[in-house]
Order: sequence, then structure tokens, then C-alpha cells
Amino acid sequence: MKILVVNAGSSSLKYQLIDMQTEAVLAKGGCERIGINGSVLKAKGNGKEKVYEKDMPNHKVAIELVLNALHDEGIGVIKSMDEIDAVGHRVVASGEYFKKTTLVTPEVLKTLEEKTFELAPLHNPAAATGVRACMEVMPKTPMALVFDTSFHSTMPEKAYLYGIDYEDYKKYGVRKYGAHGTSHKFVSAEAAKYLGKKPGQLKIVTCHLGNGSSISAVDGGKCVDTSMGFTPLAGVLMGTRSGDIDASAVEFLAKKKGLSHSEAVTYLNKKCGVAGISGVSSDFRDLEAGLEKGNERCALALEMFSYQTKKFVGAYAAAMGGLDCIVFTAGIGENTPIVREGVCKGLEFIGVEFDSNANAKKNDGSIREISTKNSKVKVLVIPTNEELVIARETAELL
Ligand code: AMP
Repeated sequence: MKILVVNAGSSSLKYQLIDMQTEAVLAKGGCERIGINGSVLKAKGNGKEKVYEKDMPNHKVAIELVLNALHDEGIGVIKSMDEIDAVGHRVVASGEYFKKTTLVTPEVLKTLEEKTFELAPLHNPAAATGVRACMEVMPKTPMALVFDTSFHSTMPEKAYLYGIDYEDYKKYGVRKYGAHGTSHKFVSAEAAKYLGKKPGQLKIVTCHLGNGSSISAVDGGKCVDTSMGFTPLAGVLMGTRSGDIDASAVEFLAKKKGLSHSEAVTYLNKKCGVAGISGVSSDFRDLEAGLEKGNERCALALEMFSYQTKKFVGAYAAAMGGLDCIVFTAGIGENTPIVREGVCKGLEFIGVEFDSNANAKKNDGSIREISTKNSKVKVLVIPTNEELVIARETAELL
């Protein structure tokens, strides 16, 4: 069985074709600047890469190009479209409308379009455009929606509710939904496999630390809490997002800066986080370079990020009543030892014995243990693979 995984953004479309027997990636690539001048598809297959500089006025043209690339004489990996058994679409937000991976039907698409767009105005419309484009080009191929939020649907009410009027929660669906669910699901399952345990036997805190960062408590294989909220703005400070902030401070800042509500939220999403604190960059590689040169605000941004992440680890250990494993994943989690050290240093009291030498080793794409042999709490670095989860979920649904 071959599954095409599609991740559509407003002007981009990334894809992977995965063989489910071996879980090997047969082909992958991405279209950029869809609907903008200078659109381009960079496609890989058969160990080769090809760049298509073609006009892509919309996502339908983009997906047609992708399918052509999959057949291409040089980099092609399939002979006919019938070899693609299904398409799994990444969708950022489900609200309370979808709790799990869902087969696309006209009703499902209607719900996605009519109910969820306001929950993720930048992402969900793009995903729906991607689904419609694929349906037009491959009308007979089953499609699945795989939600970033699904893994968090097991959170109990006490964890996902905000302290607002319960009726308002019911009426408007304002609650915590979380994000990066496919990644948290993947790395927590990989951790159990690596440790030779069943997911049901473990209490794990998964730290997905990338440009967007979220931390989850995974108890017995199920998510019981997560740091992102109604939107991905909540939790720890991130590349450009502020993370948690007192709502009254938002009003105060908006007044001082002469911003509307929505401008204030854009400010919190785009101008804050480690970029705002450091005044240098949202990229952790730049922060590390700044730190080496003695830039104090880069040092502060790094310290704040580790400190806030550490607080979630501690809070979730308390919430679960114990901790067996901490997992680091995503761009920063996999590649930035100074952050992992900052998070784990001082956690000896809950059983973390950190191995600084193992932590300092470069990411080689494998699962790495960065706690000592005797550490009660295991600390692992696990490369995430969100596309594989989307493909697995789609295959399971079929
Ligand atoms: P992500 O959103 O998961 O792609 O993560 C992006 C973040 O990871 C950026 O802040 C990068 O600075 C950071 N990062 C650090 N080292 C690397 C690396 N070797 N490759 C990719 N991202 C890295």
C-alpha cells in the first residue's frame, strides 16, 4: 500500500509518498509560492532531485505537478496513479468536531470548511484547498483528514478547560486543543518501543521544541495535558510567539501601542518570543552564536526557553504522579544540547541523572539516550516523523 501525505499551507504544499509495507519514503518534495510569481516544485525520488519552475496559480495545478513528478521518467516512483491507495491530509485544528482521523466525505468537508476555519484561519483553509485540489485530480482515491489536535482529545475536562464561564465554553468551544499531536504521539510510542515497554506502562513528558514548541504529558500512551491552548500561541515562549501571558497585559500593551485586538494577537504571534527577547533572531542557531559572542539578551532568551520548558516538565510529572521518561524532539529538541541541558539540569530531585557527554554529541538521526545508565527517569532524543504518523493513520482508517 502506498499513501500520499499532503501538508498544504496557504502558498505551499509539501508531500511524501510512503510505502506502508516498509514505511520507506519513496518520494518527497514541496511546492512553494503557489499563487505567487516564481512558483517552484522541488521534488525528490529515485535518489535524485528535480526542480520544476512552473506557474502554479492554485493548489490544483500544484498537486497536478506533484503527481506528474511522481510519474516522471527520471525521478518518478510510480507507473500509474492507481498505485496511490489513499491521501492523508494534515489538518491543524479540529475543534470539537473531529476527535480522530476521518475519511473525507462531502459532509466532513462541509464541517471542516464551515466550523473549523475560524479556529485556525491561516492553516485550515489551506488544508481544505489541498483536499479539494486532490479530490479534483484524483476523484476515486480515498482521502483522510489527520488532525494535529487528535492526540490531545484524550485530555480530561479538568486539563482542557479554561477558568471561564462554562456556558461560554459550551457555546463557543473556547478551550485548550493543543497542537503537534502527531509528533507527540509518534515520539511517545517510539520511546516506549526503545525502552522495551508497553505505552501503557509509562509516564512520559514529550517536548516538541521547534519554531513552534509544545510540551505534553503522556500517561499510559494517552495525552492527559499539553502546553498549547485554544491556539498555538500558548505555552512556552517560541521563535516569535510570546507563549503564556496574562490577558490583562495584552489589553494594556494594545492600549500603549495603539493596537486593535487582532493586531495585538498578531504582535504576540509574530514579534515576540525569543526573537523579541533577544532582539536578534527567532532561530536558535543565531541565539547560540549570539551567546558565544557574549550577547546577554541571546543568553536570556535561551535561559527563558529552557526554564519555561523545565516548569512544564515538573508540572506534568506532578499531574501524572510520576515520571519515567522525558523526550526531546523537533528542530531545537533534536539539535540544541544547551536547551536540553537547561531543561534537565536541576531535575535530579525527580530522578533525572543527566549525561552531559551524551547530550553534547551531534544529532545523527537516531534515537539517543542522554541520561546515565542509572537514571531513574530516562531522557531521550527522538527524531520526529509527523508524515509517517499521517500515513499510518490513513492506512489504518482504510
Ligand atoms: P522546526 O520548527 O522543528 O523546524 O525547528 C526549527 C528550530 O530548530 C529553529 O529555531 C532552528 O534554529 C532550530 N535548530 C537548531 N539546530 C538545527 C538544525 N541543525 N537543523 C534544523 N533546525 C535546527
